[in-house]
Amino acid sequence: MITDDYIKFTIGKQKHIALIAHDSKKDEMIEWVEENKDILKNHFLSGTGTTARLISEKTELPVRAYNSGPLGGDQQIGSRIVEGNIDFVIFFWDPLEAQPHDPDVKALLRIAAVYDIPIANNRATADFLITSKYMTEEYERRVVNFNKIMMDRINRMIK
Ligand code: PGA
Repeated sequence: MITDDYIKFTIGKQKHIALIAHDSKKDEMIEWVEENKDILKNHFLSGTGTTARLISEKTELPVRAYNSGPLGGDQQIGSRIVEGNIDFVIFFWDPLEAQPHDPDVKALLRIAAVYDIPIANNRATADFLITSKYMTEEYERRVVNFNKIMMDRINRMIK
């Protein structure tokens, strides 16, 4: 409802998973996908350009490719989260190397937090997520009701 503080969205049994790995983490990502192939094959996979193509090639899983990260792929994935078309992210980013698209990386992490999207930023978290009971169940994520905040602000301003 418009007056509620939060809006709930359902993450279905079949997740829409985005996979992203910085260059030094791509081997680790492919290994992780290979290890978890039996689970991942039941979900819809997408990823930034190079990561997606490498995973498809090495594991034969279908992975929809967005643009490469430095060319806006992270932003495309962020916009899919906003639209409700991606609801799960595995993002092996490199904490030891500066990235040309660092602002995009930060923006994606922020938007995932805003939309209450499960996002793993390293392998241990990815292992915990993929073995979660919610992988085979629906999950209600809670997103702050910005319409209410906006209406409250407008009402305060027109008084
Ligand atoms: P890539 O992009 O998969 O095209 O390498 C990943 C990233 O750097 O965000």
